[in-house]
Amino acid sequence: MNPRDAEASKEPSMLLQKELLADHYTRLARAKAEGRPVVYTFVPGNLTELISSLGFLPVLPEINALQSAMRKKSADFINRAEKIGHSEDVCTYVKCDIGMSKAGNLGPTGEPLPKPDLLLLSYTGCFTFMKWFELLKQEYDCPVAMLHVPYQGDGEITGAMIAYILDQLRTSVIPLMEKVAGRKLDMSELSRRLALSSRAEDDFVAVLESAKRRPAPIDAYFGGVFYIGPIFSAFRGSDDAVRYYAALRSEVEQRVAAGEGPITPDGPMGEQKYRLVVEGPPNWTSFRDFWRMFSSEGAVFVASTYTKVGGLYDGGFRHDPERPLDSLARYCMGCYTNLNLPSRIDLIERYVREYGADGFLIHSVKSCNSFSAGQLLILRELEKRTGLAGGFIESDLVDPRYFSAANIKNRIESYLQMIEQKRGGKRGAA
Ligand code: SF4
Repeated sequence: MNPRDAEASKEPSMLLQKELLADHYTRLARAKAEGRPVVYTFVPGNLTELISSLGFLPVLPEINALQSAMRKKSADFINRAEKIGHSEDVCTYVKCDIGMSKAGNLGPTGEPLPKPDLLLLSYTGCFTFMKWFELLKQEYDCPVAMLHVPYQGDGEITGAMIAYILDQLRTSVIPLMEKVAGRKLDMSELSRRLALSSRAEDDFVAVLESAKRRPAPIDAYFGGVFYIGPIFSAFRGSDDAVRYYAALRSEVEQRVAAGEGPITPDGPMGEQKYRLVVEGPPNWTSFRDFWRMFSSEGAVFVASTYTKVGGLYDGGFRHDPERPLDSLARYCMGCYTNLNLPSRIDLIERYVREYGADGFLIHSVKSCNSFSAGQLLILRELEKRTGLAGGFIESDLVDPRYFSAANIKNRIESYLQMIEQKRGGKRGAA
């Protein structure tokens, strides 16, 4: 590991997260021997508390893909998938996951991930998820439980939409999960887990909102992707998640008290010259280099939409132990990728104003139509509403062929100059 990378990973919460992940992958490696059922499922609109209440261990194929990219393995996996006929235009998360399964489906610990006993398709906002699980169904020939989550086309969640989800949960999703798990759902266990989720969500929101301060104690995009890890994946609804978010919050509060900024790949961040809001996922193949392109210029992200794909908790939503299934339904429909364009624009505008941003940036990824469709319209509308400079850069999630470092760096530098011009030469946001 590069010594500068080692420095970035010294935060106690990161070490704790590493520990949680290692334990999770150890449990997965033992799952078959111990007779524990394994479910493959997705991040946006996941039913984590339901999954764990029934004793399943989850594997998230999107996480497999992004971890492969960070370990520099995605190019080979994508190549394998393209060789067996998946077009260049297919989402690279899908191709990376398919290629990884063809290469032995080895997890980050080097051990093979267990095959699924169930595919739980509770997708939101993106039709690709359905095609992805069609492919995995061919690969693993196991049952598929599908929860269809209505899109917030009119920008609201109606009673009929909730009733539609509840009906699916009660009549098809939960009965199939119970059948595969070989046990009945204990509603009091589900409620217990939802109460734990809610506690972790409070601490998570406090961490996100800490970036309203000057200097911002976190980077809400590059640091943010680590902070969403446990709550968006296997750990929501567990004591481990409560422990992680309490530790993270206290770490961030200590930085606030000391007037410190986030830890970047090159150590503690210096002067914060630009406060930015960002729309779109990060690039994973050159993650730390991408981060450095901003941190070395004194640019910090104070809010991001990507950290809302697994739930819009800073909009007030909390999982509710008193209304377990209803709250799962509302959670699924509230995820960021399930929002229509006007709602997304309103949200980014709110972030720009509430977080005192100097500008907003769109990182458009080639793979993801769900994110990228309409982003130019978002850019223009936000420029009009806020009067601030908007930036637009392009790359991909996990396909290194679409990360052109020199080009992206140029674009970022020009964008920051635009902010300077708008300020009339005055510098210094912090
Ligand atoms: S297109 Fe986007 S939202 Fe859909 S599976 Fe790919 S990365 Fe996820």
